[in-house]
Amino acid sequence: MSDCLFCKIIAGDIPSGKVYEDDDVFAFNDIHPKAPTHVLVIPKLHIPTLADAKDPTLLGMLMDRVNHIANDVLKLEAGYRLVINVREGGGQEVFHLHVHILGGKKLPF
Ligand code: AMP
Ligand code: ZN
Repeated sequence: MSDCLFCKIIAGDIPSGKVYEDDDVFAFNDIHPKAPTHVLVIPKLHIPTLADAKDPTLLGMLMDRVNHIANDVLKLEAGYRLVINVREGGGQEVFHLHVHILGGKKLPF
């Protein structure tokens, strides 16, 4: 989608701190980290919010890649938190589905 910030990051039109990429997902460091490790994982397919994601296969794939990135790429052995903000009321600011991976310290709830 041409006016989507995260689609531009996937395309390389906006620079990012890439940590992982494959055919289906792209992962990069959050520009305003809320924890020592704060990575965003996004599907390459433009889907505005979780509520718009109707494909269980895509959602399963996304969780599988998040699992791989958190454990095998970022090596967050002590644990981590996943966050998906949904729409304005949930704190979503960028309308391209993304999973936050937060870790690197003990996270208060
Ligand atoms: P959300 O509030 O769930 O929509 O999260 C959007 C996240 O994108 C925020 O944590 C921002 O800090 C992050 N963000 C915004 N612009 C960029 C960017 N250019 N590169 C990396 N992260 C970004
Ligand atoms: Zn997009």
